[in-house]
Amino acid sequence: MPLAEKALIAQIRRMAKPANSVIRTGIGDDCAVLRLLPAQETLVTTDFTLEGIHFRRDWHPPESVGHRCLTRGLSDIAAMGGEPVAAFLSLALPRDLPQAWVGRFLRSLISLAEKFGVTLAGGDTAESPNGILADIIVVGKAPKGHAVLRSSARPGDRIFVSGELGGSAAAVLQMRTKPKKKVNPRDYRRHFYPEPQIELGRILREKGLASAMIDTSDGLSTDLAHLCEESGMGAELESVLIPRASVGKPAREVDLDLALHGGEDYELLFTARPGKRIPAQIGGVALTHIGHVTRGRTVLLSNLKGVAYQLEPRGWEHFRR
Ligand code: ADP
Ligand code: MG
Repeated sequence: MPLAEKALIAQIRRMAKPANSVIRTGIGDDCAVLRLLPAQETLVTTDFTLEGIHFRRDWHPPESVGHRCLTRGLSDIAAMGGEPVAAFLSLALPRDLPQAWVGRFLRSLISLAEKFGVTLAGGDTAESPNGILADIIVVGKAPKGHAVLRSSARPGDRIFVSGELGGSAAAVLQMRTKPKKKVNPRDYRRHFYPEPQIELGRILREKGLASAMIDTSDGLSTDLAHLCEESGMGAELESVLIPRASVGKPAREVDLDLALHGGEDYELLFTARPGKRIPAQIGGVALTHIGHVTRGRTVLLSNLKGVAYQLEPRGWEHFRR
């Protein structure tokens, strides 16, 4: 087995030294930030969608797989406050896959792309020895010097999260623990058809509200740990403030553990300098104050009684022991 995902990326990062001055930020943020044009930064992100890891054909309709595939990339652009421009799709498909599956996957992916003014501008196609593999690359843009990084949080910044957390993981939990019960994607839209927060990210960047930002793809505990590590900071969260999603039928609020560690909600987690006034919502998306940045290098979570525990990153990690 390779190193755990985080250690492996750290090793790659040490090996891949910057070879030119075009790269503002390379490995370590939601997107690479390239300075190819005088007034603009170019954003690039790439994400796998693998059968058996990110989706199952018996759980996910092809429309959901196509939608989530592109959302992974769009969400990384949103996390920089960027505007997406073009997407590239590399597909490896098993020989026995019905063409109808591919058509439904593509129509869904392309209709989401059109909704955000993104052109599918290339990719690669191959036969897969086993299972469906899709890699999405999204290219976006932001005004020079304005892409919002993970690494710029400072002590005293307040921490905010958009929307609600844990709703996507709740669907996976439901499907895993009750395999016989049919899950209706309509009751778990946050899992099957998550909304990339492009508009919100752009407005936070334009108004200069976010000092640092990341999207919640791996889970709050893990994504906040990434933001803190890149900034060389720590954080304190209050458990009562964490906005928990209500999902299922009848809808019920997810447990705190799912909101803290469940991945794939694709919300925005950002920090704001002490003086900035952050509205309660932007464009209908709620913004919740959940804690603040500290010098401590660890993430603490205080409960109702005010007792603080260290919050271990227990979100998604590939090759975790
Ligand atoms: P995200 O969840 O936002 O997609 P990841 O946690 O997957 O980000 O990756 C963290 C950082 O590591 C990103 O900057 C990503 O581009 C980089 N990265 C991940 N895998 C590799 C790899 N195999 N080679 C080079 N960089 C990588
Ligand atoms: Mg990300």
